[in-house]
Amino acid sequence: MTSTSLLVAHGRPTEYFTFASLSALGLPHATTTRHCPGIGSFAEPIVPEAPRAPFRAEAERVLGAAGLSMSRVSYARQVHGADAARAPAGGGFAGLVDILVTAERGVPLAIFTADCLAIVLYDPSARALGIAHVGWRGTVRGTTRAAVRALGEAGARPGSLRAAIAPSIGPCCYEVDEPVTAELARAFGERWRAWVTPLRGGHVMLDLWSANEALLVEAGVAPESIENPRLCTACHPDLLYSYRRGNRGRLVTLAALP
Ligand SMILES: [Zn+2]
Repeated sequence: MTSTSLLVAHGRPTEYFTFASLSALGLPHATTTRHCPGIGSFAEPIVPEAPRAPFRAEAERVLGAAGLSMSRVSYARQVHGADAARAPAGGGFAGLVDILVTAERGVPLAIFTADCLAIVLYDPSARALGIAHVGWRGTVRGTTRAAVRALGEAGARPGSLRAAIAPSIGPCCYEVDEPVTAELARAFGERWRAWVTPLRGGHVMLDLWSANEALLVEAGVAPESIENPRLCTACHPDLLYSYRRGNRGRLVTLAALP
């Protein structure tokens, strides 16, 4: 939950960020910006019957420089659920899931977002890696807890996990109303009230960062092992994509075991 830990920018203009904490552990990873070329948009969804990795050659050049071997990338058709899948050993399509896990070296996991959280989970001692896609639906459906559990099944100990939350929509910009707050209440009782700032007429500003940090800690991750730069997609339209701001482009967060 440290907000002092910083993202490191790469490229001019910035094509991707890395987390200082993950780089210190030797983990190849990246979160792209809108300036990274060759990333498929939401207008080109992954078709499970004929899946193709949504990266073009220009992206492979940029992400290859980040130490990610894109010929082995694994990706999913993300469905705002809480299911996890192991990445195929050689990379490729992992199914209709929102949590990707691997214990294989050199297989980049790729999670696409444009406001939702991408949460990287890494246990360096167990050599287990996962990335989860978590929006408000994933939050109420237990995706964060399920991701920690899936890492546990891959050999990780929750107390050894390092977590990093990629740029995503912040409480500054995420206004929701009754359909969302009713689901939060159903999933969390009164607890969700700690994650919102009330507005008028039943509207609230929702802090998915605080919610998911709390859920990671509840699942056994140490608070000091959670890195969240709190960089809001909607506040930075020149740099990031925000679905709420009407963008249809996607950011992608990738990581591969060294
Ligand atoms: Zn914002």
